[in-house]
Amino acid sequence: MHELSVTENILKIAVDEAKKRKLKNILKINIRMGVLSDLLPECINYYFKIISKGTEAENACIVIEKLPLKVKCIDCGGESEIAVNNFRCPICSSQNLKIIQGNEFYIDSMEVE
Ligand SMILES: [Zn+2]
Repeated sequence: MHELSVTENILKIAVDEAKKRKLKNILKINIRMGVLSDLLPECINYYFKIISKGTEAENACIVIEKLPLKVKCIDCGGESEIAVNNFRCPICSSQNLKIIQGNEFYIDSMEVE
């Protein structure tokens, strides 16, 4: 049920923003999601359809763009994009890595009228 609270959050942010700008109709919400996020886009879409009824976001579609996993190597200092199933530095093969991208989940932009 993790997705439900996340979806409620998205809806709240979108509706607050629409109200602030006095906009009636949110058409599209662009979301960025890191590949390490365990949220299921299908669930988010499903919940959004239900909970957005009667709001400014009722007709909005949700577009989720996946962000690749990026790490910084503690040993050689290199920053790389790596595959989730190959957690090592492509430069020096160290597994002493700090994740700098991959866990995020946020609204990137909205299209409104
Ligand atoms: Zn390295």
